[in-house]
Amino acid sequence: LQSTAKQLRSINYSNQHPKTTTMQFQPVFPPHKRPILIAGPCSAETEEQVLTTAHGLKGFQPDLFRAGIWKPRTRPGAFEGIGVPGLAWLRRVKEETGMKTTTEVANAQHVYECLKYGVDVLWIGARTTVNPFSVQEIADALAGTDMPVIVKNPVNPDYKLWVGAIERLYKVGLRRIAAIHRGFSTYGDSKYRNVPRWQMAIDLMEEFPGLEVICDISHICGRRDILAETAQKAYDLNFNGLMVEVHPTPDTAWSDAAQQITPEQFGQMTGALIQRKATSDDPDYQLKIENFRQQIDEFDEEIIHLIAQRMQMVREIGYVKKDKNIAIFQPERWRALADACRRRAEKNELSREFISLFLEAIHQEGINQQEKVMNDGVVTTIAPAGDLWIND
Ligand code: PEP
Ligand code: MN
Repeated sequence: LQSTAKQLRSINYSNQHPKTTTMQFQPVFPPHKRPILIAGPCSAETEEQVLTTAHGLKGFQPDLFRAGIWKPRTRPGAFEGIGVPGLAWLRRVKEETGMKTTTEVANAQHVYECLKYGVDVLWIGARTTVNPFSVQEIADALAGTDMPVIVKNPVNPDYKLWVGAIERLYKVGLRRIAAIHRGFSTYGDSKYRNVPRWQMAIDLMEEFPGLEVICDISHICGRRDILAETAQKAYDLNFNGLMVEVHPTPDTAWSDAAQQITPEQFGQMTGALIQRKATSDDPDYQLKIENFRQQIDEFDEEIIHLIAQRMQMVREIGYVKKDKNIAIFQPERWRALADACRRRAEKNELSREFISLFLEAIHQEGINQQEKVMNDGVVTTIAPAGDLWIND
């Protein structure tokens, strides 16, 4: 199943198994036992709102206080950030609470202003990571400094863009670099605002063992009712910490109101998180795990066998169609098949996201197999757009 998982991954992600980097990072956060916490409002709105949030958070000891000063908004007309005056408020946060501060930069001017006002850590937002010109501009503006920078994943699930941004910063001499996983844009129904596709963050951790990877649960969830479960999930996946949007009166926030929580709720949520151990020496535990793993290995073998049998049928159909010179494009059949699978999957507690990826992979392999059959014959077809391809 491992190689199937890798193939599934390669549909959207890196196209190759991550290797381990030779880059040597330095920690952005001084090492301590508990996970890293970054908290603060989506946007700095007023001096009072910024300071009230900071004083409310201080007791929960976040490693960094965040607030967006320049806000990249998807649609015009929304609050686009308070700009430079907000930097003085962040400086006051530091003076009054001792907390270090961080904000998003999207160009060289932002960088210079932050350096001038003593912002401690910068982050590159998802809408900037997608653009190598902007990332390079930020990297060049920081060359010769030792500023820590955290790189959010790009809005689209492009692993190489994420890595490319990290490399651009590294190449100008920066070493204190970390990453933030904030999920990926999606079109259509999802319980998340930005679907997590956890595997991509896991790939990043594997490729860059020295890199701190933080999970921005607020932008993944987009709603406060699933924040706690997502935070626990991030802990269980060994993220180094969390970024959380916190506001004194979340419902009245000028941006991202639905996903923000109060400082008290932040304290409660982070206090309730369970940090799990990597393993245990208990023989009872080991026996149970061994037993389950054995069964999983057997299921995996069966799954591979069934998929191979399915592909054999796909090839048989290819031969029959080729014989009668029939096109392989049959959208109704594919739609019916996909719907039936999704319904069955839902009944069996498999997520829509997983089953869609799975079907896509099966579909692609079917196409490849039938192409082999078709290519040395008379039948040629032109591929229609994405979803409508049919191979059986
Ligand atoms: C943010 O952190 O406020 C923000 C705009 O996030 P992202 O770049 O992840 O959308
Ligand atoms: Mn936000």
